[in-house]
Amino acid sequence: MATMIIEGDRTKAESGKTYEVRNPATGEVVDEVPAGGAADVDKAAQAAAKAFTTWSRLPANKRAEILHKAAHHMLEKVEQIAPILTKEQGKTLLESRLEAQRFGENIAWFADLADKIHGEHVRLPDLTTYGLVVRKPIGVCGAIVPWNFPLTLAANKVAPAIAAGNTVVLKPASTTPLSTLACIEALIEGGLPEGVVNVVLGQATGDAIVAHPLIRKIALTGSTPTGKKVMARAAEQLKQITLELGGSDPCIVLDDADLEGAARAISIGRFFNCGQACLAVKRLYVQEGVYDALLEKLVARATKLKPGNGLDKDSRMGPMHTETQRAEVEAQLKDAVDRGAKVVYGGGRPQGGDYDKGWFIEPTIVENVADGSRMWTEEVFGPALPVRRIKDLDEGLRLANDSQYGLGSSIWTSNMAAAYRAVQEIEAGYTWVNALQVAHDELPFGGTKQSGFGKEHGVEAYLHYTEEKSVVYGGI
Ligand code: NAD
Repeated sequence: MATMIIEGDRTKAESGKTYEVRNPATGEVVDEVPAGGAADVDKAAQAAAKAFTTWSRLPANKRAEILHKAAHHMLEKVEQIAPILTKEQGKTLLESRLEAQRFGENIAWFADLADKIHGEHVRLPDLTTYGLVVRKPIGVCGAIVPWNFPLTLAANKVAPAIAAGNTVVLKPASTTPLSTLACIEALIEGGLPEGVVNVVLGQATGDAIVAHPLIRKIALTGSTPTGKKVMARAAEQLKQITLELGGSDPCIVLDDADLEGAARAISIGRFFNCGQACLAVKRLYVQEGVYDALLEKLVARATKLKPGNGLDKDSRMGPMHTETQRAEVEAQLKDAVDRGAKVVYGGGRPQGGDYDKGWFIEPTIVENVADGSRMWTEEVFGPALPVRRIKDLDEGLRLANDSQYGLGSSIWTSNMAAAYRAVQEIEAGYTWVNALQVAHDELPFGGTKQSGFGKEHGVEAYLHYTEEKSVVYGGI
């Protein structure tokens, strides 16, 4: 049975309760884990507060050295961690390897910043004084993570937090705790001091983290409704928050686009991780001159995405993570079809044999989706893509912005003026121009509108885990 990681303890829940983690491809039990609660969060927060007193006072270059060693050790275990992620989450082994790799690389990327970001010396008008801006870690930070990219999204919070000298109480999604435990255990084996990152498990621990008085900052990745609840709860103690929430990224393809490049990026952008990604091409707007040709290319690519158990080497798309998630995507599709949409590819479940044991679904492309359909107005968190014909860029931009969300976006065109307009006018935290929709460590990532606020990745993320303090030295 897996245990939580609280300081030096590998511990069960205070309540003694447990629950099962199941494989979405087979329904089999992967492991039994503690169902933690507020008492466990309290222990973890106390442990993190204790560790903060030493971790935050280490010389920054020493902290960087410890993190590099720990990340290196973790990266040597990618091949062991990847199958754990596949079994609990469903994604293919290739996707799991990439994700586990990203975890270690992210720790190393932020370790590089630990001794490079400074405060400032400020000249004041009275020359017998001078000012300093001192940059300090915040304290204990809470990290709350969803199930779609359990490792990437944990690293996005843990890496900048601990590089800046904070300590962490980390809560994975209740259905994907095992690979996270393996990664943190590997960091500790590699030299990360106990107590710097503590892992609590169980559905009830999220609210307890947000409410705990020792936890000074909350970073949540999750759905927009959860973000609103967390924001309201965090407001009770005026905690700092970063909210990475839902998205419904538009992609515009104009007549002068590189169609092969666009088709590849859209197919990966929509179907990677069985479509369960926040940054994903979720609404496609194609100019009429290339509409048929692009659709043909997208269908050709979809036919190659064989659904299957993520552990099988010929699977190209794992199952959906839960029965509820699949039902939600199917309901959104049905709503579109009931309003007159035409299914161009997929639209159902692969049938028979092992397919009947898991939450499999076909990659799906639909057209003629009526205005107001759920596929346009809601986030579609699965492998289903609505495509719409547009007359020109104006229409594409209007439709792109007709959403409550503002996470990612992309445009394919060889006209630089059109690309420039898209960059200026699309309301989103990220715009890719003729490029694959992947987030880079170097660039700040985060949403606008109801996709949240605050940044992960980049120097900006590091700064979000520090506070500035002004100091005046007088009498000189
Ligand atoms: P979710 O909101 O249900 O859960 C996310 C996490 O929050 C889980 O660990 C959950 O246990 C916890 N949680 C739930 N209610 C809480 C509460 N009241 N207080 C504190 N914690 C609480 O999301 P999910 O279904 O696990 O993930 C899918 C969603 O996440 C999608 O909307 C997706 O777009 C979004 N997401 C966003 C990003 C991004 O970076 N913007 C990345 C990945 C996923």
